[in-house]
Amino acid sequence: MSDFSESLSRGEALRRLRLTLRAADFAMPDLEARLLLAHALGVDRHAIQRDSHLTLGAAASRLQALVERRLRQEPLARILGEAEFWGLPFRLNAATLDPRADTETLVEVVLQDVRQSAARSPGGGPLRILDLGTGSGAILIALLHELRHAFGVGVDRDPAAARMARANAERNGVGARAAFLCGSWAQALHGRFDIIVSNPPYIETPEILHLSREVRDFDPALALDGGGDGLDAYRAIAADLPRLLAPGGLVALEIGYLQAPAVKTLLEAAGFRAPAVHQDLGGHNRVIWAKG
Ligand code: GLN
Repeated sequence: MSDFSESLSRGEALRRLRLTLRAADFAMPDLEARLLLAHALGVDRHAIQRDSHLTLGAAASRLQALVERRLRQEPLARILGEAEFWGLPFRLNAATLDPRADTETLVEVVLQDVRQSAARSPGGGPLRILDLGTGSGAILIALLHELRHAFGVGVDRDPAAARMARANAERNGVGARAAFLCGSWAQALHGRFDIIVSNPPYIETPEILHLSREVRDFDPALALDGGGDGLDAYRAIAADLPRLLAPGGLVALEIGYLQAPAVKTLLEAAGFRAPAVHQDLGGHNRVIWAKG
Protein backbone atom coordinates (compact mmCIF):
# COMPACT_ATOMS: atom_id res chain seq x y z
CA MET A 1 0.00 0.00 0.00
CA SER A 2 1.24 3.45 -0.83
CA ASP A 3 2.50 5.72 1.90
CA PHE A 4 1.38 9.28 2.09
CA SER A 5 4.04 11.81 3.05
CA GLU A 6 3.45 15.39 4.09
CA SER A 7 5.16 16.75 0.98
CA LEU A 8 2.92 14.82 -1.44
CA SER A 9 0.56 17.00 -3.49
CA ARG A 10 -3.16 16.49 -3.04
CA GLY A 11 -3.45 15.56 -6.71
CA GLU A 12 -0.78 12.89 -6.46
CA ALA A 13 -2.28 11.58 -3.21
CA LEU A 14 -5.63 11.24 -4.93
CA ARG A 15 -4.06 9.31 -7.78
CA ARG A 16 -2.29 6.89 -5.44
CA LEU A 17 -5.36 6.48 -3.33
CA ARG A 18 -7.44 5.52 -6.36
CA LEU A 19 -4.88 2.93 -7.40
CA THR A 20 -4.73 1.48 -3.89
CA LEU A 21 -8.51 1.20 -3.62
CA ARG A 22 -8.88 -0.16 -7.13
CA ALA A 23 -6.24 -2.81 -6.43
CA ALA A 24 -8.18 -3.80 -3.32
CA ASP A 25 -11.31 -4.26 -5.44
CA PHE A 26 -13.56 -1.62 -3.96
CA ALA A 27 -16.55 -0.95 -6.18
CA MET A 28 -16.20 2.83 -6.39
CA PRO A 29 -12.48 3.61 -5.98
CA ASP A 30 -12.63 7.10 -7.53
CA LEU A 31 -15.47 8.37 -5.40
CA GLU A 32 -14.09 6.75 -2.25
CA ALA A 33 -10.64 8.20 -2.87
CA ARG A 34 -12.09 11.67 -3.17
CA LEU A 35 -14.22 11.30 -0.03
CA LEU A 36 -11.37 9.89 2.07
CA LEU A 37 -8.94 12.59 0.97
CA ALA A 38 -11.48 15.34 1.59
CA HIS A 39 -12.19 13.89 5.03
CA ALA A 40 -8.48 13.76 5.93
CA LEU A 41 -8.04 17.36 4.76
CA GLY A 42 -11.25 18.55 6.39
CA VAL A 43 -12.42 20.14 3.14
CA ASP A 44 -15.32 19.72 0.76
CA ARG A 45 -14.57 17.04 -1.81
CA HIS A 46 -14.96 19.53 -4.65
CA ALA A 47 -12.11 21.61 -3.25
CA ILE A 48 -9.56 18.89 -4.01
CA GLN A 49 -9.53 19.46 -7.75
CA ARG A 50 -9.13 23.19 -7.32
CA ASP A 51 -6.26 22.92 -4.86
CA SER A 52 -4.60 19.81 -6.26
CA HIS A 53 -1.14 21.43 -6.22
CA LEU A 54 -1.19 22.00 -2.42
CA THR A 55 0.64 19.46 -0.29
CA LEU A 56 -0.96 17.11 2.21
CA GLY A 57 0.89 18.56 5.17
CA ALA A 58 -0.47 17.44 8.51
CA ALA A 59 -3.32 15.57 6.77
CA ALA A 60 -0.87 12.92 5.56
CA SER A 61 -0.92 10.81 8.70
CA ARG A 62 -4.71 11.16 8.99
CA LEU A 63 -5.08 9.99 5.41
CA GLN A 64 -2.79 7.02 6.05
CA ALA A 65 -4.93 5.96 9.02
CA LEU A 66 -8.20 6.34 7.09
CA VAL A 67 -6.94 4.24 4.18
CA GLU A 68 -5.76 1.52 6.51
CA ARG A 69 -9.21 1.38 8.11
CA ARG A 70 -10.89 1.12 4.72
CA LEU A 71 -8.50 -1.64 3.65
CA ARG A 72 -9.60 -3.56 6.75
CA GLN A 73 -13.14 -3.41 5.26
CA GLU A 74 -14.53 -0.81 7.60
CA PRO A 75 -17.49 0.69 5.72
CA LEU A 76 -16.87 4.11 4.23
CA ALA A 77 -19.86 5.60 6.03
CA ARG A 78 -18.37 4.59 9.39
CA ILE A 79 -14.98 6.04 8.55
CA LEU A 80 -16.55 9.30 7.44
CA GLY A 81 -18.91 9.13 10.43
CA GLU A 82 -21.78 9.97 8.19
CA ALA A 83 -24.27 8.20 5.94
CA GLU A 84 -26.96 9.35 3.57
CA PHE A 85 -30.51 8.08 3.95
CA TRP A 86 -33.55 9.41 2.13
CA GLY A 87 -31.30 12.15 0.74
CA LEU A 88 -30.54 13.39 4.26
CA PRO A 89 -27.23 13.29 6.16
CA PHE A 90 -26.98 11.12 9.29
CA ARG A 91 -24.07 10.98 11.70
CA LEU A 92 -23.18 7.49 12.88
CA ASN A 93 -21.43 6.09 15.92
CA ALA A 94 -20.56 2.62 17.16
CA ALA A 95 -24.11 2.17 18.55
CA THR A 96 -25.93 2.88 15.30
CA LEU A 97 -26.53 0.65 12.30
CA ASP A 98 -25.31 2.13 9.04
CA PRO A 99 -28.71 2.85 7.43
CA ARG A 100 -29.34 0.76 4.30
CA ALA A 101 -30.90 1.97 1.08
CA ASP A 102 -33.34 -0.98 1.32
CA THR A 103 -34.79 0.54 4.47
CA GLU A 104 -36.06 3.47 2.42
CA THR A 105 -38.76 0.99 1.31
CA LEU A 106 -40.18 1.21 4.83
CA VAL A 107 -40.38 5.00 4.60
CA GLU A 108 -42.12 4.69 1.21
CA VAL A 109 -44.71 2.25 2.53
CA VAL A 110 -45.62 4.61 5.36
CA LEU A 111 -45.80 7.72 3.16
CA GLN A 112 -47.94 5.91 0.62
CA ASP A 113 -50.43 4.89 3.27
CA VAL A 114 -50.50 8.32 4.90
CA ARG A 115 -51.11 10.01 1.57
CA GLN A 116 -53.77 7.51 0.46
CA SER A 117 -55.71 7.58 3.64
CA ALA A 118 -55.07 11.31 4.16
CA ALA A 119 -54.44 10.07 7.65
CA ARG A 120 -54.87 12.46 10.52
CA SER A 121 -54.77 11.63 14.12
CA PRO A 122 -58.35 10.81 15.20
CA GLY A 123 -58.25 13.69 17.67
CA GLY A 124 -57.36 16.06 14.82
CA GLY A 125 -53.88 16.71 16.27
CA PRO A 126 -50.58 15.93 14.60
CA LEU A 127 -49.79 12.39 13.49
CA ARG A 128 -47.92 10.58 16.24
CA ILE A 129 -45.13 8.33 15.04
CA LEU A 130 -43.22 5.76 17.10
CA ASP A 131 -39.92 4.26 15.91
CA LEU A 132 -38.75 1.27 17.95
CA GLY A 133 -34.98 0.66 17.85
CA THR A 134 -34.37 4.00 16.19
CA GLY A 135 -30.55 3.77 15.94
CA SER A 136 -29.33 6.83 14.03
CA GLY A 137 -32.96 7.95 13.85
CA ALA A 138 -32.92 7.51 10.07
CA ILE A 139 -36.46 6.17 9.60
CA LEU A 140 -38.19 8.51 12.04
CA ILE A 141 -36.31 11.59 10.87
CA ALA A 142 -37.01 10.83 7.20
CA LEU A 143 -40.71 10.51 8.05
CA LEU A 144 -40.76 13.74 10.07
CA HIS A 145 -38.96 15.48 7.24
CA GLU A 146 -41.76 14.47 4.85
CA LEU A 147 -44.72 14.75 7.22
CA ARG A 148 -44.46 18.32 8.39
CA HIS A 149 -47.29 18.02 10.90
CA ALA A 150 -46.14 14.82 12.55
CA PHE A 151 -44.52 14.35 15.94
CA GLY A 152 -42.21 11.42 16.60
CA VAL A 153 -40.81 9.35 19.43
CA GLY A 154 -37.72 7.23 18.83
CA VAL A 155 -36.71 4.54 21.31
CA ASP A 156 -33.38 2.76 21.53
CA ARG A 157 -31.88 0.48 24.12
CA ASP A 158 -28.45 2.07 23.72
CA PRO A 159 -28.14 5.61 25.13
CA ALA A 160 -25.37 6.40 22.64
CA ALA A 161 -27.78 5.65 19.80
CA ALA A 162 -30.54 7.78 21.32
CA ARG A 163 -28.08 10.68 21.66
CA MET A 164 -26.97 10.31 18.05
CA ALA A 165 -30.57 10.21 16.84
CA ARG A 166 -31.27 13.41 18.80
CA ALA A 167 -28.31 15.14 17.11
CA ASN A 168 -29.45 13.89 13.70
CA ALA A 169 -32.95 15.21 14.27
CA GLU A 170 -31.56 18.65 15.11
CA ARG A 171 -29.29 18.60 12.12
CA ASN A 172 -32.13 17.71 9.77
CA GLY A 173 -34.41 20.39 11.10
CA VAL A 174 -36.98 18.18 12.84
CA GLY A 175 -35.63 18.40 16.40
CA ALA A 176 -38.62 20.35 17.66
CA ARG A 177 -40.97 17.54 16.63
CA ALA A 178 -39.00 14.58 17.96
CA ALA A 179 -38.27 12.99 21.32
CA PHE A 180 -35.75 10.22 21.86
CA LEU A 181 -35.57 7.93 24.82
CA CYS A 182 -33.87 4.81 26.07
CA GLY A 183 -35.87 1.71 26.66
CA SER A 184 -36.38 -1.91 25.81
CA TRP A 185 -38.75 -1.73 22.87
CA ALA A 186 -42.03 -0.19 24.01
CA GLN A 187 -42.02 -1.43 27.59
CA ALA A 188 -41.82 2.03 29.18
CA LEU A 189 -44.32 3.68 26.83
CA HIS A 190 -47.95 4.57 27.32
CA GLY A 191 -50.37 6.24 24.99
CA ARG A 192 -51.34 5.74 21.38
CA PHE A 193 -49.48 6.25 18.13
CA ASP A 194 -50.91 6.61 14.63
CA ILE A 195 -47.85 5.08 13.00
CA ILE A 196 -45.47 2.53 14.51
CA VAL A 197 -42.32 1.62 12.58
CA SER A 198 -39.27 -0.48 13.31
CA ASN A 199 -36.23 -1.94 11.64
CA PRO A 200 -35.38 -4.31 14.48
CA PRO A 201 -32.46 -6.74 14.65
CA TYR A 202 -33.58 -9.75 12.67
CA ILE A 203 -30.53 -11.85 11.82
CA GLU A 204 -30.57 -15.36 13.30
CA THR A 205 -27.72 -15.51 15.82
CA PRO A 206 -25.87 -18.39 14.08
CA GLU A 207 -26.01 -16.47 10.77
CA ILE A 208 -24.11 -13.47 12.13
CA LEU A 209 -20.82 -15.31 11.56
CA HIS A 210 -21.61 -15.56 7.87
CA LEU A 211 -22.39 -11.89 7.25
CA SER A 212 -19.94 -9.80 5.26
CA ARG A 213 -17.06 -8.34 7.28
CA GLU A 214 -18.37 -4.83 6.71
CA VAL A 215 -21.55 -5.76 8.56
CA ARG A 216 -20.31 -8.36 11.06
CA ASP A 217 -17.29 -6.45 12.29
CA PHE A 218 -18.64 -2.91 12.20
CA ASP A 219 -22.41 -2.77 12.65
CA PRO A 220 -23.47 -3.02 16.31
CA ALA A 221 -24.44 -6.57 17.29
CA LEU A 222 -27.43 -5.19 19.18
CA ALA A 223 -28.84 -3.89 15.89
CA LEU A 224 -28.36 -7.18 14.05
CA ASP A 225 -28.92 -10.10 16.41
CA GLY A 226 -32.54 -11.21 16.37
CA GLY A 227 -31.98 -14.27 18.58
CA GLY A 228 -31.92 -17.95 17.66
CA ASP A 229 -34.71 -17.74 15.07
CA GLY A 230 -34.25 -14.03 14.27
CA LEU A 231 -37.73 -13.21 15.59
CA ASP A 232 -37.15 -12.10 19.21
CA ALA A 233 -37.69 -8.42 18.45
CA TYR A 234 -40.88 -9.04 16.45
CA ARG A 235 -42.32 -11.03 19.34
CA ALA A 236 -41.54 -8.20 21.77
CA ILE A 237 -42.96 -5.55 19.46
CA ALA A 238 -46.09 -7.50 18.51
CA ALA A 239 -46.95 -8.00 22.16
CA ASP A 240 -47.15 -4.22 22.71
CA LEU A 241 -48.81 -3.19 19.44
CA PRO A 242 -52.43 -3.67 20.54
CA ARG A 243 -52.08 -1.20 23.42
CA LEU A 244 -49.91 1.31 21.53
CA LEU A 245 -51.46 1.55 18.07
CA ALA A 246 -54.33 4.00 17.66
CA PRO A 247 -57.50 2.63 16.03
CA GLY A 248 -56.96 2.72 12.26
CA GLY A 249 -53.22 3.25 12.80
CA LEU A 250 -50.45 1.77 10.69
CA VAL A 251 -47.69 -0.59 11.75
CA ALA A 252 -44.83 -1.14 9.29
CA LEU A 253 -41.81 -3.31 10.08
CA GLU A 254 -38.69 -4.11 8.14
CA ILE A 255 -38.11 -7.86 7.85
CA GLY A 256 -35.42 -10.22 6.59
CA TYR A 257 -36.39 -11.46 3.13
CA LEU A 258 -37.37 -14.93 4.37
CA GLN A 259 -39.30 -13.78 7.41
CA ALA A 260 -42.60 -12.64 5.89
CA PRO A 261 -44.61 -15.77 6.80
CA ALA A 262 -43.34 -15.91 10.39
CA VAL A 263 -43.84 -12.19 11.11
CA LYS A 264 -47.24 -12.29 9.42
CA THR A 265 -48.25 -15.05 11.83
CA LEU A 266 -47.00 -12.98 14.80
CA LEU A 267 -49.00 -9.94 13.68
CA GLU A 268 -52.11 -12.04 13.12
CA ALA A 269 -51.73 -13.50 16.59
CA ALA A 270 -51.62 -9.91 17.90
CA GLY A 271 -55.00 -9.29 16.25
CA PHE A 272 -54.09 -7.77 12.88
CA ARG A 273 -56.10 -8.86 9.87
CA ALA A 274 -54.31 -9.47 6.57
CA PRO A 275 -50.83 -8.04 7.06
CA ALA A 276 -49.37 -7.16 3.66
CA VAL A 277 -45.82 -7.59 2.40
CA HIS A 278 -43.91 -5.09 0.30
CA GLN A 279 -40.74 -5.73 -1.75
CA ASP A 280 -37.59 -3.63 -1.90
CA LEU A 281 -35.93 -2.49 -5.14
CA GLY A 282 -34.11 -5.82 -5.37
CA GLY A 283 -37.47 -7.64 -5.40
CA HIS A 284 -37.00 -9.11 -1.90
CA ASN A 285 -39.70 -9.09 0.74
CA ARG A 286 -38.59 -6.21 2.94
CA VAL A 287 -41.54 -4.64 4.76
CA ILE A 288 -44.63 -6.06 6.42
CA TRP A 289 -47.44 -3.70 7.31
CA ALA A 290 -50.93 -3.81 8.75
CA LYS A 291 -53.66 -1.48 9.94
CA GLY A 292 -55.05 -1.50 13.43
N1 GLN B 1 -30.50 -5.34 6.83
C1 GLN B 1 -29.39 -5.57 7.69
C2 GLN B 1 -28.38 -6.46 7.02
O1 GLN B 1 -28.47 -6.67 5.86
C3 GLN B 1 -29.84 -6.17 8.99
C4 GLN B 1 -30.43 -5.13 9.82
C5 GLN B 1 -31.32 -5.71 10.82
O2 GLN B 1 -31.12 -6.77 11.42
N2 GLN B 1 -32.37 -5.00 11.01
O3 GLN B 1 -27.45 -6.92 7.62
